[in-house]
Amino acid sequence: MDSVGVAAAAPDAGPSPAWQSKCPWGAPSTTSISCSLADVMSEQLAKELQLEEENAAFPEVVAAAEGPFITGENVDTSSDLMLAQMLQMEFDREYDAQLRREEKKINGDSKVSISFENYRKVHPYDSDSSEDEVDWQDTRHDPYRADKPTTTPRRGFIGKGKDITTKHDEVVCGRKNTARMENFAPEFQVGDGIGMDLKLSNQVFNALKQHAYSEERRSARLHEKKEHSTAEKAVDPKTRLLLYKMVNSGMLETITGCISTGKESVVFHAYGGNSATEDKVIPPECAIKVFKTTLNEFKNRDKYIKDDYRFKDRFSKLNPRKIIRMWAEKEMHNLTRMQNAGIPCPQVVILKKHVLVMSFIGQDQVPAPKLKDVTLSSEDMKKAYYQILNMMQQLYRECNLVHADLSEYNMLWHDGKVWLIDVSQSVEPTHPHGLEFLFRDCRNVSQFFQKGGVAEALNERELFNAVSGLNITADNEVDFQAEIEALEKMNEDHVQNHGKKLSTFSSDGDPPIYDE
Ligand code: ADP
Ligand code: MN
Repeated sequence: MDSVGVAAAAPDAGPSPAWQSKCPWGAPSTTSISCSLADVMSEQLAKELQLEEENAAFPEVVAAAEGPFITGENVDTSSDLMLAQMLQMEFDREYDAQLRREEKKINGDSKVSISFENYRKVHPYDSDSSEDEVDWQDTRHDPYRADKPTTTPRRGFIGKGKDITTKHDEVVCGRKNTARMENFAPEFQVGDGIGMDLKLSNQVFNALKQHAYSEERRSARLHEKKEHSTAEKAVDPKTRLLLYKMVNSGMLETITGCISTGKESVVFHAYGGNSATEDKVIPPECAIKVFKTTLNEFKNRDKYIKDDYRFKDRFSKLNPRKIIRMWAEKEMHNLTRMQNAGIPCPQVVILKKHVLVMSFIGQDQVPAPKLKDVTLSSEDMKKAYYQILNMMQQLYRECNLVHADLSEYNMLWHDGKVWLIDVSQSVEPTHPHGLEFLFRDCRNVSQFFQKGGVAEALNERELFNAVSGLNITADNEVDFQAEIEALEKMNEDHVQNHGKKLSTFSSDGDPPIYDE
């Protein structure tokens, strides 16, 4: 198991609190405990050691047994509950072992084998210790998705003329029903009817189907209970473990709750711990952005990362889960660039796989409002506008970035100024669609401030030129867009011919500046 990347509490911090010494992931205590005979005989000590052992053996059980919040204090679990859960887990393991034996028996030497994977009681996460390489979240092959049942053709009949057979034909239907029993869950005993010319009437089949489904739902519920056993429904066990490590290492004090649940990420609030690690002081309040490890929502974002040359070589080699980690990584790098340029944005604390910890914009667990949700005085509105114009220029020129999702949804109003967030999709301007993304950003910003009554607000085309330093003269949207695309194409052609990008764009007939 890999380490958290943050050291446990400093050795000179005095005796570590009880929960920390029991932490199965924490670094081993450096102080050697000398103990007297009284200690050895102490019931208290015995109990503690017992708990320690239990926790080491069943870390997940501790996780599941806890209340809604992950804190350092409430890890202590009463032994009765623990015992019950240990027994249950033992039972589940036995059940799975039996399942595996049956699976083996059924498959024998057959070339085509069926898998009982979905019906195991112990979640793959709990039983797999080899960590990363088991990709049960890989949606290219989703082990949790049932195969599509074979059905009658849509038109409902086959054949021609008087030889027509409809889907209602009794014999065909009966055979089909028998075959369809194969789609029932494996633990559902259907006998060896499938191998014989058995014809099930629709009525019998439907009754069986109903029963099989309710069995299936029962089994699904079991899995669901395991996966969703904390209050944070969106967090899968692997993520929970990562969060636990952060709390147990002392980096975070408490994870208090969820700030936002989006399609691609879930954001939590946490109080920073006191372990200053890697020369970094942990901010008093942190935001934890968990990139969702179910791929589906990320598919449509391929274009942002696939064409980003920084990630190009890696893209093709990666499995889907690694691609999601790359989003988190991208957000981290982009935030760091912005931080270095002095743009107000969250400060990166640490990145662990698909979990990014950063400073919290807001106070006392209340996140700063999005620009779309605050009502600003016309004076503040104007101030915000000029600040954003400035930030967009800095982002483009100093950070060599285009936000690519800039709008009143991703700007927070805090401390009398605008903070930029959500930069996992940000790209460099020379990205094949970089200028189009910039134009879209400009359109959002212009429209927001023009509607907001800022008379000075440039229109989207003026703003685009002001940010990029380009001088596109088209006076209507369509032509402007066309020129942008022409520039992008020119850059791509250059890449094709020279194997590298232009360092900047230039539209006024001068030869483009190359980055030699
Ligand atoms: P998404 O891709 O889901 O839009 P965001 O990075 O925009 O992800 O985060 C979603 C929401 O979480 C934001 O709109 C904001 O309200 C909140 N949030 C994100 N990061 C922070 C932060 N560092 N401090 C405070 N709130 C944050
Ligand atoms: Mn957002």
